[in-house]
Amino acid sequence: MIQEKKVSQKEFIFDYYRNNPNRDIEHKEIVPIVTKNWETRYGKKLADPDRAIRSLFEEGKLIKVRIGVYKYDPDFVAKPQAKTFPDNLKKKIFERDNYKCVICGQGQEEGLEIHADHIIPRSRGGQNTLENGQTLCSRHNMLKKNLQQTETGKKMFIRLYELAQKEQDEQLENFTKEILEIYEKYDINGHIDWNK
Ligand SMILES: [Zn+2]
Repeated sequence: MIQEKKVSQKEFIFDYYRNNPNRDIEHKEIVPIVTKNWETRYGKKLADPDRAIRSLFEEGKLIKVRIGVYKYDPDFVAKPQAKTFPDNLKKKIFERDNYKCVICGQGQEEGLEIHADHIIPRSRGGQNTLENGQTLCSRHNMLKKNLQQTETGKKMFIRLYELAQKEQDEQLENFTKEILEIYEKYDINGHIDWNK
């Protein structure tokens, strides 16, 4: 009896990239295909393909082309990126920022702990580079982490706002507009553009 080798979901997804080397592959292409193939083969649902792809990228197996697009290049062997900055790089980031939080200018002299923060988070493809690092005090580091959780909300309200405009639903438009104005008032998630 031939025993089929058990593959993990991640390996299963990686195989698709490996069979299509050097091609930019969008999430919307690969996700439905691997989901279907996995189901056909194992009769089960593929758990979280997006996460598996991110993880393959974090392990250095895939190259990120842009958001939602990755490719496999057999000649590219990336070193797996650590979750945090290596110590020598962390030191360089602190030195460049004079050991001060880039937001409030406070640091160890003021008795605050400092952190090397990824400007673009690792989970979104941000790399361990000097350019992608910044010094934050513990307060602003925490604040940034917490505010990432409001991003989804802002994006959702923007979509709702645009929909309300299109459908000429005045009540929904006013509701979403007021919420988005509160985001602006407190300067929350300013990097997400809202076109009034
Ligand atoms: Zn600070």
